[in-house]
Amino acid sequence: MKKLSILALAIFAIFGLAACSSSSNKTTEHGKLKVVTTNSIIADMTKNIAGDKIDLHSIVPVGQDPHEYEPLPEDVKKTSQADLIFYNGINLETGGNAWFTKLVQNAKKTENKDYFAVSDGIEVIYLEGQNEKGKEDPHAWLNLENGMMYAQNIAKQLIAKDPDNKETYEKNLAAYLEKLSTLDKEAKEKFNNIPAEKKMIVTSEGCFKYFSKAYQVPSAYIWEINTEEEGTPDQIKSLVEKLRQTKVSSLFVESSVDDRPMKTVSKDTNIPIYEKIFTDSIAEEGEEGDSYYAMMKWNLDKIAEGLAK
Ligand SMILES: [Zn+2]
Repeated sequence: MKKLSILALAIFAIFGLAACSSSSNKTTEHGKLKVVTTNSIIADMTKNIAGDKIDLHSIVPVGQDPHEYEPLPEDVKKTSQADLIFYNGINLETGGNAWFTKLVQNAKKTENKDYFAVSDGIEVIYLEGQNEKGKEDPHAWLNLENGMMYAQNIAKQLIAKDPDNKETYEKNLAAYLEKLSTLDKEAKEKFNNIPAEKKMIVTSEGCFKYFSKAYQVPSAYIWEINTEEEGTPDQIKSLVEKLRQTKVSSLFVESSVDDRPMKTVSKDTNIPIYEKIFTDSIAEEGEEGDSYYAMMKWNLDKIAEGLAK
């Protein structure tokens, strides 16, 4: 009889525990939180914090433009089923064709309950001559300090939805922040010795505003944001004229845009394109730049080398 009641207690303990864990917000059959991210940069940050504790689906494929995108049926399905959705916000996926706005509407998801802007709390920089909501420059992640805020925002929501794994998320976040912070300190010194007349990052899209401010390197571009016309003759002419006033020795082209307009600028100015850089996407897995940290390190190294030429 005594034996039996111990067994009964043990069974109760097991079912009691199971009942406890199913009362949390986790809804997958494996007990893993289902997370969706809009692009490869946010996906990589999320992986760094969550490791294998979540099921992750990322929408815009590596190397593609996250500003304007058409979600696939798979993306719609995963978004509907998601426990937690992360997007950049500040006029990235909600600008242009507003693909994310439509996606979460169709999936019947609610802001700050189901989906969260990872840029929450950063100091916004607006497009030139603008200062209102919907006219932000979205590329805040190109300042590592903002990237660290993104990581903190991601960790905060993971913990809120999945408190059972709080310790793992906190531990991973701390290690990740330390790594990003070290790179940020390096970045702040990196361009000190480049002469002022050569110090200018030239890219296709004007995505370096946050980077320029953080690391004290001015930037120039063909078009300001991917949701406008890309590489018109007037845009090219205007950049070529600007470059003639400088001694800039290298141009750069982003991995996620058409490189033909920058090739025209290079031909018209005789300034070579030094390297491909990563701004709106990480690199393909296995290549250099295949994480947020690695793409920032690659960009910093290549920009410093190119500008010093
Ligand atoms: Zn962009």
